[in-house]
Amino acid sequence: MATNSKHPETVVLHAGYRSDPATNAVAVPIYQTTSFQFRDTQHAANLFGLAEMGNIYSRIMNPTNDVLEQRIAALEGGVAALALGSGQAASLFAVQNICHAGDNFVASTDLYGGTWNLFANTMKTMGIECRFVDPADPENFRRATDAKTRCYYAETLPNPKLAVFPIAQVARIGREQGIPLIMDNTAAPVLCRPFDHGAAIVLHSTTKYIGGHGTSIGGILVDGGNFDWEKHKDRFPMLNTPDPSYHGAVWTQATKPMGPVAYIIKARVTLLRDVGAPMSPFNAFMFIQGLETLPLRMRVHCENANAVAKHLSKNAKITKVIHPSLMTGETKKRADEHLSRGYGGLLGFELKGGADAGRKFIDGLKMFYHVANIGDARSLAIHPASTTHSQLSAEEQAQTGVTPGYVRLSIGLEHIEDILADLDQALAAV
Ligand code: PLP
Repeated sequence: MATNSKHPETVVLHAGYRSDPATNAVAVPIYQTTSFQFRDTQHAANLFGLAEMGNIYSRIMNPTNDVLEQRIAALEGGVAALALGSGQAASLFAVQNICHAGDNFVASTDLYGGTWNLFANTMKTMGIECRFVDPADPENFRRATDAKTRCYYAETLPNPKLAVFPIAQVARIGREQGIPLIMDNTAAPVLCRPFDHGAAIVLHSTTKYIGGHGTSIGGILVDGGNFDWEKHKDRFPMLNTPDPSYHGAVWTQATKPMGPVAYIIKARVTLLRDVGAPMSPFNAFMFIQGLETLPLRMRVHCENANAVAKHLSKNAKITKVIHPSLMTGETKKRADEHLSRGYGGLLGFELKGGADAGRKFIDGLKMFYHVANIGDARSLAIHPASTTHSQLSAEEQAQTGVTPGYVRLSIGLEHIEDILADLDQALAAV
């Protein structure tokens, strides 16, 4: 079924699977197996030699994961995807697939803290330099680029600032120099399709909205198939010169018969093979269940968050409400340009009473969960200054957009009246 051109509501139910070839089961079965028997030695040789695609071993591919991969690739408008054990693994693979020791890449300063740590510290020990730049001016990406720059990296809707990243502008700057833009679209699935704005690679922590029910950790990497790696041979030696780890395969050449999938095939058959970090088939099944209602859920997350933003902006104890629906000027223009189906379910606000008020507010919540997570069906809240950002100095906290009285909410799917009632009663106690 050609589902790539269909609406997201349809794609998430039908792309990549009709019924199980072995049993005709309509729900996607969980193929909980490590290995797959070869028909004969020729079949085995073909699979290992990439002359034929098929299942070998679940560290590298699995039929349940394959459905999730096809579905998310179709949802994002990409050509193929790779399911991984976590969003963190997806971020690492996204960059490491084209960057080795001595190379650099340019990333937005507005990133999830875990990604920041991975890029600033762990990847540094691998000899890969991350150059952080302020995305407020897209030209900062060009300024930080040199001959060893392999990619740009950013998040569509980064919290806590929730200022939408200028995907179209930075993708254009990158393409002028033969540099792909990698977008972490975790906070805005369905709402934004980064490939439509020129991104080359998309990734998600499926742990969040795609799973949607706070049950499973996972990540996925999606190849847009829209970047000419071969044209920029000198910039991408890892895709254009013989790979000693795979009998000297040159990935742009070896994958040609399969379409524009050099990047994602290489990630699967070298990085995933060597590093591990696969998604378990059980978690792939959980994400397939989540995906089926993702467009519906995103609609309600957005409606509820819009209503919460409007409601909180009238409260005298709050100095500022941060949500794209309330933004003005250039940030609003970027939000409208990139978020075609809603402003997202994440929201922040600043309490006049500072850190004390922030802690009191969180302790006063009765329905909201106090957790370090986003994208759950349930409403969630956290006070970053005393938790996720407590290791940073006050100055560093301010740089990331976290003030002492800042509270982050991930608005869930409960009835809006119950959400507002819980917020109001907690605010009354501040
Ligand atoms: N990207 C974003 C935007 C996130 O919020 C997170 C986790 O909070 C990650 C990546 C990492 O994902 P995971 O927790 O699945 O490793």
